[in-house]
Amino acid sequence: MDLYEYQAKDAFARHGVPTQSGEVVHSPQAAKEAAASIGGLVVVKAQVKTGGRGKAGGVKLATDPQDAYDKAHDILGLDIKGHIVRQVLINPAADIAEEYYVSFLLDRANRTFLAMASKEGGMEIEQLAVERPDALAKVPVDALVGVDRAKAEEIVDAAGFDDSVREQVITVLQRLWDVFVKEDATLVEVNPLVKTPTGEVVALDGKVSLDDNAGFRHPDHEALVDFTETDPLELRAKEKDLNYVKLSGSVGIIGNGAGLVMSTLDVVAYAGEEFGGQRPANFLDIGGGASAEVMADGLEIILSDPEVKAVFVNVFGGITACDAVANGIVQALELLAAKGDAVTMPLVVRLDGNNADLGRQILRDAANPLVELVDTMDGAARRVAELAAQGA
Ligand code: GDP
Ligand code: MN
Repeated sequence: MDLYEYQAKDAFARHGVPTQSGEVVHSPQAAKEAAASIGGLVVVKAQVKTGGRGKAGGVKLATDPQDAYDKAHDILGLDIKGHIVRQVLINPAADIAEEYYVSFLLDRANRTFLAMASKEGGMEIEQLAVERPDALAKVPVDALVGVDRAKAEEIVDAAGFDDSVREQVITVLQRLWDVFVKEDATLVEVNPLVKTPTGEVVALDGKVSLDDNAGFRHPDHEALVDFTETDPLELRAKEKDLNYVKLSGSVGIIGNGAGLVMSTLDVVAYAGEEFGGQRPANFLDIGGGASAEVMADGLEIILSDPEVKAVFVNVFGGITACDAVANGIVQALELLAAKGDAVTMPLVVRLDGNNADLGRQILRDAANPLVELVDTMDGAARRVAELAAQGA
């Protein structure tokens, strides 16, 4: 999960990284009030989970509360790289003498952590890395040692920071490493880290990505999730503990096992090309034990997607054999009908693996006219794409 700048700065503050504290607001009027309570020059900053906000007009200085109202009015509603601005952060404006860049990230290619630092912050780091690679120091960080004083000194020296900020940057790096480790992040980036005219080093921007796999260790991170950014169907799926991702196509997909579902997306997209570009409408992995209830929950979510025209149930019987899955499908259809949500679109089912024959027999016996059995995955993908094209 990526954090908003204000959330990243909250994490910085918790771990002793110097940064401005401000207020997040959703309207120009609230921006005006926040600016009045902060007093003096403020900066109004779009809170969207993408970089380059400054260039896109999403970061503006405001001289007084009325100006903060006007700037917030300009920024709220902006579309920055496909992200609509719904909230702005009001921070006391810092005076900037110099802009630096520092970050820690997981370097998957080299199987280690990496520190990056530069005296030339402010501009986008991808651009700096291309245009002036020598100005960007890269220092591997051993996971077991972390960023102790010696490592922080090594980073500061590699980047050639000035003596006037050396000690402060060394401290900031160690505290940012605390953020990285204690919050279980995969990225912590500050661009710019600034030196003010009076010589203080302050983090003016913050980008933090948290490792969702470590979420169980951080009950407080749940509160950072922004549900307004989550698709409503994904929200409902999450409430039911389903592993569902909304996509934009017309073919609903249910399978057991993430690998199988992923390859199902591929074969459906491939087969769909022949039928006017039918594409998968979602990813849904119902996991190993596909009970009738889980199957019903899954179908219910998929059928609430108005773009879905046909559904592909692709199951490989393993620990849960195909007969159990087939019973699950039959009961799920009955369950939905009883609830008044009867399935009205074609379901193409492919069963393979343990007790496949028995499973197919169960579906044939149930004789639901909407359920069609196809033996192979490719054949089923073709058929469901064809049905989706007819339904469109
Ligand atoms: P980004 O463009 O999304 O990376 O957003 P930033 O938070 O980095 O802001 C963009 C630029 O706005 C920074 O590089 C600064 O030059 C400028 N900026 C941000 N905050 C302040 C501030 O408090 N005072 C001043 N003078 N400039 C700021
Ligand atoms: Mn920035």
